[in-house]
Amino acid sequence: MPEDRSQKTEVRGQKTAVISHQSSVISQQPAEETKDYGLKKDRGQMSEVREAVDYGPWTVDYGLRRGVCEMAAQIIKGKEVAQQIRLELKEEVAKLKEKGIVPGLVTILVGEDPASQVYVKSKVKSCGEIGIESFNHVLPADTSEEELLNLIEKLNKDPKVNGILTQLPLPKHIDTNKVLLAIDPAKDVDGFHPINIGKLNAKKKRKEIDQEGIFLPCTPNGVIELLKRTGVKLRGAETVIVGRSNIVGKPVAMLLLAEDATVTICHTGTKDLGEVTRRADVLIAAVGRPKMITADMVKEGVVVIDVGVNRTPEGLCGDVDFEAVKEKAKAITPVPGGVGPMTITMLLVNTVKSAKVAAGLI
Ligand code: NDP
Repeated sequence: MPEDRSQKTEVRGQKTAVISHQSSVISQQPAEETKDYGLKKDRGQMSEVREAVDYGPWTVDYGLRRGVCEMAAQIIKGKEVAQQIRLELKEEVAKLKEKGIVPGLVTILVGEDPASQVYVKSKVKSCGEIGIESFNHVLPADTSEEELLNLIEKLNKDPKVNGILTQLPLPKHIDTNKVLLAIDPAKDVDGFHPINIGKLNAKKKRKEIDQEGIFLPCTPNGVIELLKRTGVKLRGAETVIVGRSNIVGKPVAMLLLAEDATVTICHTGTKDLGEVTRRADVLIAAVGRPKMITADMVKEGVVVIDVGVNRTPEGLCGDVDFEAVKEKAKAITPVPGGVGPMTITMLLVNTVKSAKVAAGLI
């Protein structure tokens, strides 16, 4: 969307945004409870607003203007962004079907872990809603590693299957790494196969990543999509990630680099964490420690993406002290209702991408 320079000059540096009565991905309403938060072990399986502030290298611009109001921070509602992406995917899947291409996702669940059952059910339902065919294999808890590997081998060869997703955690007698490595990288819709990770790391620009059949890990890709669809300009932005895990921190860093952001990654060895996080124009928290990012650790006008999902006696919360930080932030994701809903959506994106690659359309 084009920037409205005149408006920006008028209100530069003020926390002023313009809201209309139409719906938007950004809202001041509190987060809604969602059933699937894409928890750690899930691994990715596991008022229209026109912001008129220019705080730095990014500009947020969301649409028509109808009225002006003061606000502390825009709440980035991942649930609504995810819904919009799913609508777009549904149209894409319908067009593919006209060409005789039906994307197919297989979920494999070993055992009867109740949380895993809920996640798998939610994935199957999401597939159905946008027209992806889903096949669910529910195996008994005593399934041997060999039996599971044989099933994966069969699915690797099945042309109706575009994505294979093994729900984690697996029972202890099965080597998880061995199973994940057995999945054909061309069907690795989780984006955690070393081949896909290697390809992601070898590319410089996002355009190059998208042009190739590389499957991006779902939560990190969801983070980037959330930032982009919120209108946050990443080129030149000072971005700080707290957390360096293979499933969130590191791939988020690679994806931010591919957007030309300047990237700093923090971890337990980081000296004076607050000194580093206060530099951030965009702060990503992926730590797994309830409310550890406090208001004194961020600068005014920061955009905060909270990946953390922590269960506390008071309920679910993120890694960011949301109530305090939102008073200083320009935009912030809630927990739940922020990054979580993006995770399954990006799994659907990968499955459709896989079907397009298999059909020679990418
Ligand atoms: P990991 O435990 O694998 O990694 C946590 C990272 O945080 C590590 O790199 C660790 O550093 C760093 N860290 C821990 N404590 C500190 C500290 N005091 N100061 C600085 N760095 C610290 O977690 P994940 O990456 O798997 O997950 C992070 C959070 O994101 C969790 O709450 C998880 O539930 C959530 N999550 C949410 C998803 C979603 O869809 N919404 C999906 C995946 C995860 P070091 O490497 O030095 O140990």
